[in-house]
Amino acid sequence: MKLLVAVKRVIDANVKPRVKADGSGIELANVKMAMNPFDEIAVEEAVHLKESGKVSEVVIVSMGEAKCQETIRVALAMEADRGIHVQTEAELQPLAVAKLLKELVEIEQPDLVIMGKQAIDDDSNQTGQMLAALLGWPQGTFASKVELGEGEVTVTREIDGGLETLALNLPALITTDLRLNEPRYAKLPNIMKAKKKPLEVKRPGDLGVDITPRLITLKVEEPPVRAAGIKVADVAELVEKLKNEAKVLS
Ligand code: AMP
Repeated sequence: MKLLVAVKRVIDANVKPRVKADGSGIELANVKMAMNPFDEIAVEEAVHLKESGKVSEVVIVSMGEAKCQETIRVALAMEADRGIHVQTEAELQPLAVAKLLKELVEIEQPDLVIMGKQAIDDDSNQTGQMLAALLGWPQGTFASKVELGEGEVTVTREIDGGLETLALNLPALITTDLRLNEPRYAKLPNIMKAKKKPLEVKRPGDLGVDITPRLITLKVEEPPVRAAGIKVADVAELVEKLKNEAKVLS
């Protein structure tokens, strides 16, 4: 059984993003980048399924600038088998990523595609759903538990006030939620081994996909700065302020 995992290179989750002075987007120059956290969870799940003996190969795909290859190498050091980089300097929006992934799925014929539920840079939460629709495959989004069976996969999803369990016929697509697992750290010998694992480079044109953006970003703004709080002397003053200043009590 073969798994395909999509990983995006994004601003490191520990870095506070800064809006560009002209409001056209987020400043990326000299900013630390890393694998999207939900995609680390996707890689961990795929490698874990391989270790359980049910999967023979884990293929990693990343799309974007040349440095995406560093992100693919991180996944290979987490013990995935090989990588595919779709290289482009152009902006890639979710529909373009989904169309490129569809072409790769048709070439690679995986039994299961695992992706993050959302990329923490654009917060789109669209690519997995679009890919499943383009392929006509069943999808289990926001997975918090995955059990691979014969010809099917069982996916548990956290929904408001409970859990939903779905059985999907393979081939299928899963997107990961935070509680699915805790991704491993790559060990030094594996980082060395990862450097020698196969990594194929393609261009969007090789896959015959038009990646022209469909959305225009009009403006990006910082959230308003929160005003400082105040201390009140007693409950009476608090109630007075809630009534007369905040006007949340009548
Ligand atoms: P999004 O729909 O942008 O929130 O992204 C959802 C998921 O799609 C991510 O967690 C990745 O698994 C995948 N994805 C999005 N963009 C890329 C990309 N440029 N390269 C590889 N995977 C991507």
